[in-house]
Amino acid sequence: MNIHEHQGKELLKRYGVQVPRGKAVFTVEEAVQAAEELAAPVTVVKAQIHAGGRGKAGGVKLARSIEDVRVYAEELLGKVLVTHQTGPEGREVKRLLIEEGCDIRKELYIGLVIDRVTGRVVLMGSEEGGTEIEEVAKRTPEKVVKETVDPAAGLAPFQARRLALAIGIPAALTGKAVRLLQSLYSAFTDLDCSIAEINPLVLTGDGELLALDAKLNFDDNALFRHPELQELRDPGEEDEKERRAAKLDLSYIALNGNIGCMVNGAGLAMATMDIIHYYGGEPANFLDVGGGASTEKVTEAFKLILSDDQVKGIFVNIFGGIMRCDVIANGIVSAAKEVGLDRPLVVRLEGTHVETGRRVLEQSGLPILTAVSMADGARRIVQEVEHRGGMSA
Ligand code: GDP
Ligand code: MN
Repeated sequence: MNIHEHQGKELLKRYGVQVPRGKAVFTVEEAVQAAEELAAPVTVVKAQIHAGGRGKAGGVKLARSIEDVRVYAEELLGKVLVTHQTGPEGREVKRLLIEEGCDIRKELYIGLVIDRVTGRVVLMGSEEGGTEIEEVAKRTPEKVVKETVDPAAGLAPFQARRLALAIGIPAALTGKAVRLLQSLYSAFTDLDCSIAEINPLVLTGDGELLALDAKLNFDDNALFRHPELQELRDPGEEDEKERRAAKLDLSYIALNGNIGCMVNGAGLAMATMDIIHYYGGEPANFLDVGGGASTEKVTEAFKLILSDDQVKGIFVNIFGGIMRCDVIANGIVSAAKEVGLDRPLVVRLEGTHVETGRRVLEQSGLPILTAVSMADGARRIVQEVEHRGGMSA
């Protein structure tokens, strides 16, 4: 789960990380009022969307007067901001962070992530923070320094000091930097983060270390431990179908293609996506209905796929082990009858109760294409979708 910058800053502040004074607002009037309350020589107006790259895309504005704040707030609220992280469709800005500007001497980068190879938390830092960090990491990876954290010991002070030194934090600020890095590490572990990033962390003219941005992502599998974090969820920023799927306890990820997939088991779901690719198609989603799904759950999963206008055809690939083929077949039939089956559907069933499952599909009277194997099914759905696309184009 992702949250907004202003929420991330509020959380980090509780852990002792210094952040600029600021307030989240939803209207131009609120923006002006917040700026008046801040009464700062420079006010920063920042678009709050769940994507980075706002600086480069014009989502961060420096206002030198209240009138400027009004103009920028009017400009940004309701605007669809396209950054390199939003995709071409962009994100509509519905809230702003109105913040006190600061005297930036230097922009640094610090971040905590989980390294999948070592299975440990890694602290990363760079003296070249700011909006070009991706380029820095790509072109000059030696400018990104790392410390791997021992989970039993936590982030050791010597590691924090070594990183602070490596990213050019002045000696006089080492103590502050160590405290900041340890605060960030506590936030990361307490809140079950998957990412905690401050970019930029700035060195100010008066010798402070200030988090000018905050990106916190949480591990969805640990969210049940943090009801207070779930309240920070902004449904407007999340994929509607992924949200519905989460409620149904389905593993669903929306993708960019046009072939909807319903599969049981994550491994088979991955393999199904691969084989669709192999035959020249693009999956519209990853969907694992799980092992012991009920007919109702399958029905809902199928409806979820059908609700996606991008989907031009559906491939159901089930290997019934614990999952019974007749349960799947009944789910497909009931969903198709309820919402109408207006797109080609290829079904490959194998395993437990497969005969009953096939009979249910045949007797439904629905135009379902049955496949004899996974490869056959993938090939046919790709053909069907191409055929339809060609006819309507
Ligand atoms: P991102 O591009 O989405 O990561 O947004 P950031 O919050 O990191 O802002 C991008 C850039 O805007 C930063 O790297 C800074 O250069 C600039 N910026 C952000 N906040 C302030 C501020 O308070 N004062 C000044 N002068 N610049 C800021
Ligand atoms: Mn940033």
